Amino acid sequence: MYALTLDFEARKVTPAEAPPPVLERDDEVLFRVLEVGLCGTDRSLVRFEKGRPPASGTSMVVGHEALGRVERVGPAVDGLAPGDLVVPVIRRRCPGPCANCDRGRSDLCLTGRFTERGIHGADGYFCEFAVDAARHLVRVPAALESSAVLLEPMSVVEKSLDAAFRAYEGEPRNAVVIGAGAIGILTALALRVRGLAVSVKSLEDEDTPRVGLLRRCGVEYLRGTAPSADLIFEASGANESAFEAVKLLAPCGVAIILGAMNGKGEFPFRDLVLGNRKVIGIVNAPRPFFEAAIEDLRRFEPQAVDGLIERRRRRHAVESLHSPPPPQAVKLVHTLED
Ligand SMILES: [Zn+2]
Ligand SMILES: [Zn+2]
Repeated sequence: MYALTLDFEARKVTPAEAPPPVLERDDEVLFRVLEVGLCGTDRSLVRFEKGRPPASGTSMVVGHEALGRVERVGPAVDGLAPGDLVVPVIRRRCPGPCANCDRGRSDLCLTGRFTERGIHGADGYFCEFAVDAARHLVRVPAALESSAVLLEPMSVVEKSLDAAFRAYEGEPRNAVVIGAGAIGILTALALRVRGLAVSVKSLEDEDTPRVGLLRRCGVEYLRGTAPSADLIFEASGANESAFEAVKLLAPCGVAIILGAMNGKGEFPFRDLVLGNRKVIGIVNAPRPFFEAAIEDLRRFEPQAVDGLIERRRRRHAVESLHSPPPPQAVKLVHTLED
């Protein structure tokens, strides 16, 4: 079968022929991959800035934002049947001992020795067929087929919102999201459906489709200085934005950092202390947040969600991975059709 493979020795990404996977255990599910979303993580993988191949070799199939259709299930699988749509949860527990992996929260792994399909030490899903244990697959309602590829990034948004609302003392009224990529826009839409006043701050021109989409959904768009807010989400990946996020916090505010890298700048510890402000880092999300993401995708305006996705065929994938994201597409998705 076709598999888009990252070769860690030759340091390149190429379409390759791989043996199709087979069911080896009773609790496993074989599914046909329908489409795969690409994100900044995939672009860093093809630059070999992160990731590692499975222990058994020097290459790894890429792709961690997948949607599939079940083809076959093992005899011990309950609740999934051929024809069902599924989205995989990508992180797998560490060998332990690890109290958080033991309680099903590998997203909070304490040892760092977890694997992630398509990122760290395990093959991903940019291939025609894949197998997973049923517990790693989230069943998606058929009505969400056209947007379900967003569930993996959306699960991280759900975990962020959960962390922010739990950490905030009282009822937050307003939020600023820094960055208008997929995570930033999905965060803004999820905050809007929860009734907050939301502004997105980014560098895009005012007349781009994504700014129009945000405004239609009642989100304010800013290119200049953002106001202070109860909740701030850094979703741009730039360390300057993370410093800005912390500085914009209203008293008792909570900043969620989603993408920033380490960098130099002034961190306002004094303001943090005197204003009871909090800063939280978030990565990866477990199954319950995929289920919360399904509920939110249902609440979003279908046109807004469709407007986020641009689909391409798989033959364009290598080019997509080596190019910056196109300005018109918030989420670039490749189908497995050639
Ligand atoms: Zn991703
Ligand atoms: Zn662990």
